[in-house]
Amino acid sequence: MTDAKIVCTLGPASDGRDTVRELAEAGMRVARLNASHGTTAERRELLRTVRAVDREVEPALATMVDLRGPEVRTAPLEEPITLDEGSTVRFVEGETATPEEVGVSTGLAAADPGDRVLLDDGRIEAVVERVEGEAVFARVESGGELGGRKGVNLPGVPLDLDVVTEADRAEVDLAVEESADFLAASFVRDAEDVLEVAGALEERGGNVPVVAKLERAGAIEHVEGIVDAADGVMVARGDLGVEYPLEDVPLIQKRVIRRCQRAGVPVIVATEMLDSMASARRPTRAEASDVANAVLDGTDAVMLSAETAVGDRPVRVVETMRTIVEEVEDSEEYAELREQRVPAAGPTSTDSLARSARYLARDVDASAVVAASESGYTARKVAKYRPSVPIVATTPDDAVRRRLSLSWGIRSVGVEHVEGAQEIVREAVEAALAAGVAESGDTVVVLSGMMSDLSADTTNTLKIHVAAETLATGRAAVQGRVAGPVFSTGGDLSDAPEGAVVCLPPEFDDGGFEGDLSRIGAIVAADPGLTGTAAIVARELGVPMVSDVVLPERVEAGTVVTVDADRGVVYEGDVLGDRRKRDDATFGAGSGSGREFENGPDR
Ligand code: PEP
Repeated sequence: MTDAKIVCTLGPASDGRDTVRELAEAGMRVARLNASHGTTAERRELLRTVRAVDREVEPALATMVDLRGPEVRTAPLEEPITLDEGSTVRFVEGETATPEEVGVSTGLAAADPGDRVLLDDGRIEAVVERVEGEAVFARVESGGELGGRKGVNLPGVPLDLDVVTEADRAEVDLAVEESADFLAASFVRDAEDVLEVAGALEERGGNVPVVAKLERAGAIEHVEGIVDAADGVMVARGDLGVEYPLEDVPLIQKRVIRRCQRAGVPVIVATEMLDSMASARRPTRAEASDVANAVLDGTDAVMLSAETAVGDRPVRVVETMRTIVEEVEDSEEYAELREQRVPAAGPTSTDSLARSARYLARDVDASAVVAASESGYTARKVAKYRPSVPIVATTPDDAVRRRLSLSWGIRSVGVEHVEGAQEIVREAVEAALAAGVAESGDTVVVLSGMMSDLSADTTNTLKIHVAAETLATGRAAVQGRVAGPVFSTGGDLSDAPEGAVVCLPPEFDDGGFEGDLSRIGAIVAADPGLTGTAAIVARELGVPMVSDVVLPERVEAGTVVTVDADRGVVYEGDVLGDRRKRDDATFGAGSGSGREFENGPDR
């Protein structure tokens, strides 16, 4: 899985269940449904399709409903018309269009002489000459062919449109009813607009995170408030590059990514990333560089629009994007930039612990940072500091599991709700093992934000942990910890390897040992007793012993296991390797104290 996530816009080219699945398998982590096209009923169906696919695939797949917002579009047209340079066009609210009069979805009478009217992503540009009542007369400065329902931008003109329009209300209902994972708010100007969208969700009893799209003139001047108010941000370069000078877009992108990372808010870079692949088999060099640069900038996600919604080869586009992202993420340049751009610790104790976790993971050569996170808060804090190892986030909340799909580096795993710090950590580490990011014996750094008896967002434990798969648990007979090869015997040690973990059957006591006792590294006895021959021998030899244990049949002779007789547990593999290097790191999944950094609840 890539650290930078891939968001795909679904549309006629990709709305079938098989294609959604193929897209997910190719690397899509968030499916975007654009409310500017299609019907609400179609989107409902598609949201259900994506949810069904999420249940079949790993890692998680989230959904995002993208509101049309206060956008203006030209009238629908059967055939394109041509607007000639130098001609004067009359813009009125309406449903028809000719080269002399172009109907638009909302009147433009708020414009003043000198304001620019940009049509179809700025391909056609006109300048307002005069306003007569509701009609706006503009001279075409840069002409061209105009198709139906093309976007109209009047940068900086306060058109009389609510941020949540009448059409949007049905989409907000939909997002709440279908538990969409994100709601993207289009054309927000400031934090108040973001809060208005959040308010519309709240009125409907919905708890859907809001992604603020930066695309409207004035929004960048309010970016600080927008980032604070939103749960995510999209650099929506399509409209952004029309409402702002094109040459400003690359630096806006970089600055917004930097700001979002510092705030720990996921950010998406969107639009025309691999645009030519809507029809071509290969992207242009410039497009490949664009994706790579967004990843180098540190974005949480990169987005595909027409390429996957209406393109010829949606799955191939995702594969191409993933390959570019992977190449960057494997590079020295990326590693260097990531190290250079670690934000200063934020004000909460979770920030401090999450930042420490990224350095701790590096210093102890951990395989992963594992965040046990109820609300996703702790996991997002870990992502903010961009550790150099995978982040596994475990959560008992299915919506949180999906939503973490948008955040940089996080692989989220659903787990059962368990009580108690040790159980939470044990479950989280097991999830890391199951996810394949750590192997038994690997060191992981665990950050626990799920102390159900305290506040849901409390992150209060940071641990260095040796991930160990428990093979069996029994009774601690003779203390000590040893790793060695399994040797099952009724008592004959003549073929026992050096340092053998000798596994004895229940009837062992009848016979006793034969052969070289010095080969015994540890004893694992099926008999529950603590005083029989085996225990006496173990004590005399000073080797650890666990009783009342039968190893699973799959554990073959010669397999290396670790006997932790202090806890009465047998782990798969040698989990002592790293531990020997450190003094007292926490040992074993679900084990108790060790090297921990305890903290009180976040304020
Ligand atoms: C954009 O303008 O870049 C964008 C993503 O928004 P939309 O596709 O809704 O125009």
